[in-house]
Amino acid sequence: MDPAKREIRGVVWPPNYRTELFCDGVSEWSECVAFERPNYSPETIATAWLALKEWAAPRVVGRVFDHPGAVHEALSKDFRGHPMAKAAIEMGCWALHARLEGTSLVKVLGGEQTRVPVGVSLGIHDTPEELVETARRNLDEGYRKLKMKIAPGRDVSFVKAVRQALGDDAPLMVDANAAYTPADGDHLARLDAFDLTMIEQPLDSTDLVRHSQLQKRLRTPICLDESIDSPERAEDMLALGAGRIVNIKPGRVGGFAASRRIHDLCMAAGVPVWCGGMLESGVGRAHNVALASLPNFLLPGDLSPSARYWNRDIVDPEWTMSQDGFVDVPMDGPGIGVEVDRARVNAMTVRQEQIVPT
Ligand code: MG
Repeated sequence: MDPAKREIRGVVWPPNYRTELFCDGVSEWSECVAFERPNYSPETIATAWLALKEWAAPRVVGRVFDHPGAVHEALSKDFRGHPMAKAAIEMGCWALHARLEGTSLVKVLGGEQTRVPVGVSLGIHDTPEELVETARRNLDEGYRKLKMKIAPGRDVSFVKAVRQALGDDAPLMVDANAAYTPADGDHLARLDAFDLTMIEQPLDSTDLVRHSQLQKRLRTPICLDESIDSPERAEDMLALGAGRIVNIKPGRVGGFAASRRIHDLCMAAGVPVWCGGMLESGVGRAHNVALASLPNFLLPGDLSPSARYWNRDIVDPEWTMSQDGFVDVPMDGPGIGVEVDRARVNAMTVRQEQIVPT
């Protein structure tokens, strides 16, 4: 078979939501990042499972593609929504292509950075004092960006306490996860006093025009996360001035083709991007690290080491962070650059589905 044209022979996802794609006796893994509940985006594990099984996988399995870049289009026509389900398949195809070519996902995507700075996300705390303690500990561990989740009533005084405790040089930002309304503009402007790298997603995901109005009132750059679900929304953001930074999560935008397009649009506009996290296992982490090695990923990504979230990850080697807060990029692969511990995956499998050409 022409090595550039390979038929995707099958897809199976043995653990609850990780995907393994097969071709020519070779396989590679990807991960669907949907949460259990629709509190970040409309997708859930249950809806993604349905979309993967009924619509996404059948569009790819048994088909021949010239390049993994063509998979995005195959998953787009007359198939709305479900970007995380689509991304699980699409990103798996990029990784499988790399593995079949004997190269790395990093190189196939065009990654250039050999190590990527790592940031961390800190949840809502009950008191400013507790947040200060957590922030100080994470800064001491080497993280190069501290993202504090904020919400009404848990914002200005909390950020002020951390800034005062950690000093002017601490790399601080906040993420509101759309918890505010345009009426909170004056209140949010008080955060300008703390020299934050960015305020992420203060308003609702559909509020691009209102984000633009808010950005005009803020000195601090707005970063958009939930709002940017496609390259077209990134173009809208740039045209409207609705933000000055983008958090790219490949699952949120439907995979690598869309992520690369957003990356390129932002780079041309002088807008930096960074890679957010969805509490991935080491498989999803591999995909994110590869993406974050592209040249316009200029800010630390949420790429914490395996040990932060897992007693034991499902990949070998596990992901680690250097003392100065960087993750090494597996430039040479092969594929995603780590191997999956099948015994461990099998031990944790709760359901399994195999899709083969009909
Ligand atoms: Mg966010």
